[in-house]
Amino acid sequence: MTKKCYGAVELGGTKFTTLIAKDTRTILKKKVFPTLNPKDSLQDIVAFFKDEIPDCETKLEAIGVGSFGPLDLNPDSKTFGFITSTPKQGWEFFNIKGEIEKALDVNVFLETDVNAAAVGEFYLYPVNRIRNLAYITIGTGIGAGIITNGKLIHGLVHPEFGHISIPHDIRKDPFRGVCPYHRDCFEGLASGPAMTARWNLSPDDLPVNHMGWELEGEYIAHALANLIYTVSPEIIILGGDVMHHRHLFPIIHKKARALLNKYIKSRSLEENISEYIVPPRLKDDSGILGALSMAVYETESRD
Ligand code: ZN
Repeated sequence: MTKKCYGAVELGGTKFTTLIAKDTRTILKKKVFPTLNPKDSLQDIVAFFKDEIPDCETKLEAIGVGSFGPLDLNPDSKTFGFITSTPKQGWEFFNIKGEIEKALDVNVFLETDVNAAAVGEFYLYPVNRIRNLAYITIGTGIGAGIITNGKLIHGLVHPEFGHISIPHDIRKDPFRGVCPYHRDCFEGLASGPAMTARWNLSPDDLPVNHMGWELEGEYIAHALANLIYTVSPEIIILGGDVMHHRHLFPIIHKKARALLNKYIKSRSLEENISEYIVPPRLKDDSGILGALSMAVYETESRD
């Protein structure tokens, strides 16, 4: 039996998850750590992967990393593989890809956390059934991983879907928004911190019948309509802490259908919108399993 093994890291602002697996289904070891400063966290990562496992060769085939950003993912850039201008102290311009590669002598495939989550959900679908998918996380921030024709969108940088403009009627919602760059962009109006600041209640404490959920659903529906018009995904997955409140889904479905107003001719939208805008099938593991899928499939595609 092969002793090939792969690693994965999902690096978040407060905690990170590491795992070692034989393939995308057979997980041998998994651990969660608090995110400290880069030096100490790197030590935790290295110690985790250096610890020998009987079923694995000493050297891993590759490690997939899904990380908080912003990241430099341009292979031609001098700071390729770095976490760049993050407000998270000590992590500015930390060479996450390079440092792990150097310490463990292994290939690292790096993506933003939300891109990794999109990859995790993408590989759940049979090849060729879904080629275009969007994964949106709505929590402390808002971001999207967008896959078109089977590939993640990268461009100038990576998409920053959380910062698109959406209609904001200040008579109905006088709250000014929390984005430090744009105030009332999508993230400024609809992230978890925006809800908390607007209602003085966190989403977890906001009663199910509170008008705040209708407003939240409306902002999300506007953003999704823009996404549908622009990149035409075949499925939209909504994850993140705010979306743990599942009663938001039917509100979004209703409002998205009303906004689209039958303009897009598709059965997915007209008849099956509840199967088109959906929660993550991997629940809170989309990111770490996506990072693992990156390690497995990127290695296979290079062999
Ligand atoms: Zn913004």
